[in-house]
Amino acid sequence: MTKPRLKVIPLGGLGEIGKNMMVLEYEDDIIVIDAGLMFPEEDMLGIDLVIPDMSYVVERRENVRGIVITHGHEDHIGALPYLLPQLNNVPVYSTKLTEGLIRVKLKERRTRDGVNLKVLPTGEEVTLGKFGFEFFPVCHSIPDAAGIIIYTPEGIVIHSGDFKIDYTPVSGKGTDLSRLAQLGAQGVLLLLSDSTYAELPGYTPSEQIVSEALDHIMANAPGRVIVTTFSSLVSRIQQVIDAAAKYERRVFVVGRSMTDTVRMALELGYLNAPDGILGRIDEMRGLPHDKIALVTTGSQGEPTSALVRMANRDHRHVHIQRGDTIVLSATPVPGNESLVNRTVDSIFKQGAQVLYDKLGRVHVHGHGSQEELKLLLNLVKPKFFVPIHGEYRHLSLHAQLAESVGIPKDNIFVLEDGDVLELTSQAAKVSGKVGSGHVYVDGLSVGDVGGVVLRNRRMLSKDGIVVVIIAVNRQTGKLVGRPDIVTRGFVDTREFKDMMNESRELLARTLDHGGARAAEWSFINTKVKDTLEKFYYERTKRRPMILPFMVKV
Ligand SMILES: [Zn+2]
Ligand SMILES: [Zn+2]
Repeated sequence: MTKPRLKVIPLGGLGEIGKNMMVLEYEDDIIVIDAGLMFPEEDMLGIDLVIPDMSYVVERRENVRGIVITHGHEDHIGALPYLLPQLNNVPVYSTKLTEGLIRVKLKERRTRDGVNLKVLPTGEEVTLGKFGFEFFPVCHSIPDAAGIIIYTPEGIVIHSGDFKIDYTPVSGKGTDLSRLAQLGAQGVLLLLSDSTYAELPGYTPSEQIVSEALDHIMANAPGRVIVTTFSSLVSRIQQVIDAAAKYERRVFVVGRSMTDTVRMALELGYLNAPDGILGRIDEMRGLPHDKIALVTTGSQGEPTSALVRMANRDHRHVHIQRGDTIVLSATPVPGNESLVNRTVDSIFKQGAQVLYDKLGRVHVHGHGSQEELKLLLNLVKPKFFVPIHGEYRHLSLHAQLAESVGIPKDNIFVLEDGDVLELTSQAAKVSGKVGSGHVYVDGLSVGDVGGVVLRNRRMLSKDGIVVVIIAVNRQTGKLVGRPDIVTRGFVDTREFKDMMNESRELLARTLDHGGARAAEWSFINTKVKDTLEKFYYERTKRRPMILPFMVKV
């Protein structure tokens, strides 16, 4: 028999940004670290979410002892509503705020089955099969973020979670450096560390500089101050409240996701507001503008966000006007730059001021830059090192940093999703590959109507619609005649008459081949869409929305 080994298998987040998920396996015990989602790229038309291929875990569900979540960002918790119902009531461990955010997420997706959430304070150890683990606090752009110390039969593994090193954090504890140094002295087998900002030299600035910038803005802005950020950036919301309170501005929270998060964070004690500071939006009327601050979403220029609607004079309560100061307290997620720029333009057009990261220090991000990554490597002094969380260039650069601080090249493994790394206390090697990749989630199945409507509109405005009418004989269940096709906004049907006829023929042939299933709705629905999407794309390079209808005659 071969000696048992520790297997480390990333299922998401290595070679990409988002949908983080990692499996640790030892004999017949598995623990899963994080289960996140990724938002689709612009070209993933029709897709609302992307989650990891979790079949490796689901197929071994009997062995899964627990899921351990580092923090409450979507790219770490977003796949839980899809994973949990497929497992046998597996416990999910997280810190308190993270647990609150997971609960909000599960409720949103109406997930009730297989839910067994457990709050675990940092420093308390839990045993799961042959694994033991505990959380340690790290600094990140969300309170209550944690890294994980995992005790395995082959040695200690440290998972950094998402982290930076901020000596003056706004809320919560800083990254626990002394605990890490202590473990380093004891001996650490493997370090898994966040690579998101491995491209940036130096140190990530402290949140403190954002407090200073906000202080300055609240003091000097002639009218209302409208701050937009991610709703999960609870510490930033705290900074806005603190700065507003200092200059006797009342704070109004606008937008549903922002309101939900603020309420939950207040309840759990992660947000503190002096009495009377937070107001309902109808209380804004009559207040002098220099006594008003608003917090809202829209830092990414999302078309349905409150900020964009305010800028387009399309919001129910607030219209941006001359004298307002808008602060975009977030960096655009790659891919969103043009939306953000357009929003900034339209705010300037309304005569208001805009401050964004290029103009002022109104945002710092939550990930460590090169010097912080080196510090962690130096404190932990791992025998083996795997850079995690990042696209391939981030992982490679992080690997180079590790080499520069003295970790032997042979002990550094740049893995991608699905790679299996096997370790003993002495050696490590990549031993194979398991299934991994993108699993697309269509919003229809999870009730994300806003997103679906928007997506449909985008599709319709781009390539039009094709309606396919298929007649089925009520008695025999057989197809009647050729399908009818009606289009709008797709092609000039006179000019493309031949192509349209051809597509009807093709469809009739395809459905005929379906035999007994030909009149089943699910068969027709997918066959019609697949066939026509492909055919029209080949001919026109367009992807109209295809809408099959079945009528019984
Ligand atoms: Zn994060
Ligand atoms: Zn992350």
